[in-house]
Amino acid sequence: MQNITILGATGSIGSSTLKVISENPEKFSVIALSAGTNVEAMKALCIKWKPKFAAMSDHNAAHLLEKELKSLNLATEVVAGEQGLSFVASLDEVDSVMAAIVGAAGLVPTMAAVKAGKRILLANKEALVMSGRLFIEAVEQYGAELLPVDSEHNAIFQCLPELVQKSVGRCDLDKYGIDTILLTGSGGPFRYTDVDKLQLVTPEQAIAHPNWSMGPKISVDSATMMNKGLEFIEAKWLFNCQREQLKVIIHPQSVIHSMVQYRDGSVLAQMGEPDMCTPIALTMSYPERISSGVAPLDFTKVGELTFLEPDYARYPCLKLAIEACYEGQHATTAINAANEIAVSAFLNNQLNFTDIAVVNERVLSKVCSQSQQLITDNLESLLELDRMARNLAREVIRERSL
Ligand code: NAD
Ligand code: MG
Repeated sequence: MQNITILGATGSIGSSTLKVISENPEKFSVIALSAGTNVEAMKALCIKWKPKFAAMSDHNAAHLLEKELKSLNLATEVVAGEQGLSFVASLDEVDSVMAAIVGAAGLVPTMAAVKAGKRILLANKEALVMSGRLFIEAVEQYGAELLPVDSEHNAIFQCLPELVQKSVGRCDLDKYGIDTILLTGSGGPFRYTDVDKLQLVTPEQAIAHPNWSMGPKISVDSATMMNKGLEFIEAKWLFNCQREQLKVIIHPQSVIHSMVQYRDGSVLAQMGEPDMCTPIALTMSYPERISSGVAPLDFTKVGELTFLEPDYARYPCLKLAIEACYEGQHATTAINAANEIAVSAFLNNQLNFTDIAVVNERVLSKVCSQSQQLITDNLESLLELDRMARNLAREVIRERSL
């Protein structure tokens, strides 16, 4: 029996994780669940899963949940705030932590799980983008195990030799005959929209992803391809890639979830239905395989698989994120923070879709111009830099709405 904490249990990845557990009730036990503010959703999960702990990042939500659970005579103990999230992420009795909070809010609790030496099932890519080397070094220092949930990175992981899988974050791709990692992306809902019309797209259109069902933030990131940019940075850290070892390629059908190209001309690809239960199940059971509840891929229904180069005029956020990746930690922390603020403003109808890239670009160039003064080798400084970039992004948004 594996004991698990799910950070971000009420979200899209959290729900899929619980679905995989439902498929394998004899293998996993839910010790703790966490959420941001949604009391009703968390209450329903507590009734169903009876976890030992429930953590709400919002203190008022935690009070409300506590009352509700008491009136139901449930024994689940409610904890609150970032401290509560870190507490459930590092409990002695927990083996694995699903890190599925969205955005930078996931960094501190995920890091708490790393420092407690847990098996980290990493969905929260923003945590790694924000802290890169610090995160990878902490995994090694505290003896944690890092397994990628993100479907592309999970696919790449599956296409790598076992010895490379065992050294995530420190692998030597060249030594194992690996030339290039091909990170695939669908291109999102606006792949064929006129670039001139992109400024008019609405949040509803942007979150309607053609292949995947996901939370609102990552859906918008998929439409701008900022998601692929964040994944580029994520892949660099997970697989220790040099610049020429990592490429983005558009694959509209989302059947291949990414590929690894070897020196001898072989290409290994991982394929499957676009359903996160598959990569989640692999991280939960690795090195074994369990049922995920996902239907087998029917190749006769797939038809054709196509590929194309990304067009940076359509996806400026992708280009910015790749530039940030090679600029350094200050740049990736800043662009991640700016993007969170810009996406949230877009979802609240305060910003045009195409202005997301403008906000990201302005914040990135401002932070890069000050890079000499910025410290990025400890968590507190990274959190400070994240706050600074958020404030800069808010300023740009204010200017644009005048
Ligand atoms: P979501 O919006 O559906 O869920 C987010 C979860 O985080 C919810 O449980 C919410 O309560 C919690 N949360 C939000 N703000 C919080 C805060 N400030 N403090 C604590 N908890 C907070 O998001 P999602 O689509 O499940 O994505 C979660 C993470 O997984 C993201 O980092 C995303 O990039 C990554 N991811 C998602 C998918 C997918 O298919 N959904 C695929 C790959 C990677
Ligand atoms: Mg992905």
